[in-house]
Amino acid sequence: MRHRIAVVGGGPAGLTFARVLHRHGYPVAILERDPGPDARPPGGTLDLHEGLGQRALDKAGLLAEFQALSRPEGQAMRILDTDGTVLRDWQPRPDDRANPEIDRGQLRDLLLGPLDVRWGQGVTQVVPGTRDGVLVHFDDGRQETFDLVVGADGAWSRIRPAVSPVTPHYTGVTTVETSLDDVDTRHPDLARLIGDGSVAVYGVNRKLVAQRNSGGHVKVYAQFRAPLDWHSDLDLADAEAVRASLLALFDGWAAPVLDLLQRGTAFVHRPLHVLPVSHTWTHVPGVTLLGDAAHLMPPLGAGANLAMLEGAELAESIAAGPGDLDDTVRAFEEQMWVRAGRWAKITTAGLERLVSPDPAAALALFDQVQPS
Ligand SMILES: Cc1cc2nc3c(=O)[nH]c(=O)nc-3n(C[C@H](O)[C@H](O)[C@H](O)COP(=O)(O)OP(=O)(O)OC[C@H]3O[C@@H](n4cnc5c(N)ncnc54)[C@H](O)[C@@H]3O)c2cc1C
Repeated sequence: MRHRIAVVGGGPAGLTFARVLHRHGYPVAILERDPGPDARPPGGTLDLHEGLGQRALDKAGLLAEFQALSRPEGQAMRILDTDGTVLRDWQPRPDDRANPEIDRGQLRDLLLGPLDVRWGQGVTQVVPGTRDGVLVHFDDGRQETFDLVVGADGAWSRIRPAVSPVTPHYTGVTTVETSLDDVDTRHPDLARLIGDGSVAVYGVNRKLVAQRNSGGHVKVYAQFRAPLDWHSDLDLADAEAVRASLLALFDGWAAPVLDLLQRGTAFVHRPLHVLPVSHTWTHVPGVTLLGDAAHLMPPLGAGANLAMLEGAELAESIAAGPGDLDDTVRAFEEQMWVRAGRWAKITTAGLERLVSPDPAAALALFDQVQPS
């Protein structure tokens, strides 16, 4: 029996879920608030792990295409001291495919493929348990019912309140992001500093990371501990004011490192919010969550990977039928909670060490994860 299924959100979680269902010939309505795929800049690069994101792509039949697009060399990682001294310079082996990088836009297009997304359909809330199923309210006033609504709508999920009263809280760490274009021709000195992958510099309660995307594009992340309203005297739309404020915050760091901020173009503020570690809920028939909507955690290379694997696993279980849909979702949630809880602990501890009063803690963590 084919159930009426909707997934809210066309990010890594929602699209992987829909793509795996599509592979099994199972229909799903993809409800996405953005008016189109290019409505917003897609964001930086993602590393997809062999046992997580790549496993999900395999389930979607997309692993070979991912391998052709992704950048194994992007796994390279250099760590500098604040005075510019190179402390670590890790290069992947040529055949290392453990965590290759892919631009978010490329991943989105890969997942989108033949999918028919209902763009511009923001969901405001869902009401489970009505006579005809789960009632979905759209932001234009329309309503529609489904047998299962999967909330894959990210950190500020509109579906989450149907299963859990919990909302994200601020970690005390914020990020200001900037970028450089055409780095190899316009900023060859910075291209050398960054190498093929990333460069990271750890200071007291702050860090600066520059990460290569495809096509000579680089994203720079300045991350620091600060109250949520640290910018109350600052106009965040004024790029020069933000630049000056960051340069003051990173005062005393080596000039080539600060050039990453000096030459960045626009600045985007992204305070880091998380859900509590091991967030679970009492199962609600007809509604579930995937990805950041279920377990928002510090951005340390796990979120999109988990989101995709969850999407693929739930889709496979549903397509396998013919069991009771609710039992299938319940079993999926139990499995998701265990794995996501483990990663939430790892990434929460990681953030404590990477943006910490003791920069040596960050280096020790790197040596633990990436022994030479
Ligand atoms: C700077 C940074 C770097 C990161 N790097 C990595 C990395 O290297 N590896 C990794 O695994 N993870 C990384 N992450 C985490 C990763 O980005 C997220 O975990 C991942 O995007 C979660 O996917 P998702 O599909 O659950 O949610 P999202 O990507 O947030 O997608 C949600 C989708 O839902 C849509 N939506 C929202 N509300 C509604 C609504 N009401 N109605 C309809 N649609 C709606 C949104 O428009 C969006 O398309 C990083 C995060 C950040 C901030």
